[in-house]
Amino acid sequence: MSDQLSTHLSSVWSHLTPIRPVRGEGVYLFDAEGRRYTDFTSGIGVTSTGHCHPRVVDAIRRQAAELLFSQVNIAVPPVAEELALALSKLTPGSIDRFFFANSGAEAIEGALKLARHATGRTNLVVFQGSFHGRTHQAMAMTTSRTAYRHRYQPLPGGVFVAPFPDARRHGGSEADAVHYCLEQLELMLISQSAPDETAAMFIEPVLGEGGYHPAPAAFLRGLRELCDRHGILLVFDEVQTGFGRTGKTFAFEHSGVAPDILVMAKGLASGLPVSAVGASAELMSRWEPGTHGGTYGGGSAVPLAAALATIETLLDEELIANAARQGERLRSGLNDLKRRVAGHADVRGLGLMVAVEFRDEDGEPDKAATKGVQRACLDQGLLLLTCGSYENVIRWIPPLVVTGEQIDEALAVFAEALNRNYRSAVAGGG
Ligand code: PLP
Repeated sequence: MSDQLSTHLSSVWSHLTPIRPVRGEGVYLFDAEGRRYTDFTSGIGVTSTGHCHPRVVDAIRRQAAELLFSQVNIAVPPVAEELALALSKLTPGSIDRFFFANSGAEAIEGALKLARHATGRTNLVVFQGSFHGRTHQAMAMTTSRTAYRHRYQPLPGGVFVAPFPDARRHGGSEADAVHYCLEQLELMLISQSAPDETAAMFIEPVLGEGGYHPAPAAFLRGLRELCDRHGILLVFDEVQTGFGRTGKTFAFEHSGVAPDILVMAKGLASGLPVSAVGASAELMSRWEPGTHGGTYGGGSAVPLAAALATIETLLDEELIANAARQGERLRSGLNDLKRRVAGHADVRGLGLMVAVEFRDEDGEPDKAATKGVQRACLDQGLLLLTCGSYENVIRWIPPLVVTGEQIDEALAVFAEALNRNYRSAVAGGG
């Protein structure tokens, strides 16, 4: 039945599971036979308030009954202005104007067009391991895996890739890695992309697809200083890290470094397609009217209403504090397993954006073990994703409504999966 249903879908989508969910509630998905799955992927970081949060569903119903669409160039729907106001209360004072689009990649495209248009410069700097999306320019800015670019060359030019400070890769302390990467960046501005040609630097405050590596605060401070010195715009891609995921509204708050342009999507609207580009009024005023736009962004009222209800829910139900609390519980449980189970190399992350990186006895990335553990969890109905250039990282991104009990249940499934994949696991571990 499921296979028949798939027949007419494009084969370009890869599929992690054969599950066909017909209903979602909180952290759970249910199929037509009533089987329950624990969704710790949040649909790749989207369902921040859980599946079908009643408040979000209610806002969608009300908006759908009143106004589905009013094209923003023709007549601005009030919900667009309400959402922009709500966002301005969440972002730093320096970011108080918002452009709306539909997906993360589209918002990245908007951010880079703003940067190029406002500065009159062409070049963009990204960091090794980056993921910014699937459109051609965003693909050219994506360096986490060749699979995302394979057989799509030539990609648009003007993109320069600088090293990301991953202490393990650089083989020293975090401070050494930060020092090396900032030095390399300075060298890049001397040797490859002159400052007066460099429009912006794009960075994910926690590298997402690239392996869930939080950017050290000292590195973000260094970028801020370098950008200010050369009039280069600093863009934070918070498509995956935004809206409470890391235990703060935005991940950059952990470092105290604010961007010039903030890119948001995914968790913003609990599953409806809306993304945003935020910047100061001054910067936005340099983006001349009519030089960018789109049919749906800012005009499709239902996703905007879902975003507004998502923000209200995050705040009223204190879900960001919950993300910090449950993230702590998750990391502590995973660290406990790490101490007891061999090959389980590194636990890291912020809030509910947590990684377990697998390496073998020689310290080499262990993709086979990663996939084995993931598969064993999937077999028990626990949905987990992987990431990382070497595909040796299991990422934990449950909805922010997750409870301590649900975390503990997932940890028990994970412990069992580890025991099955590692012979050296201690008896009774987990
Ligand atoms: N930027 C980051 C950091 C992402 O994680 C993603 C998607 O995973 C994107 C951009 C692209 O977003 P979308 O898939 O909505 O185009």
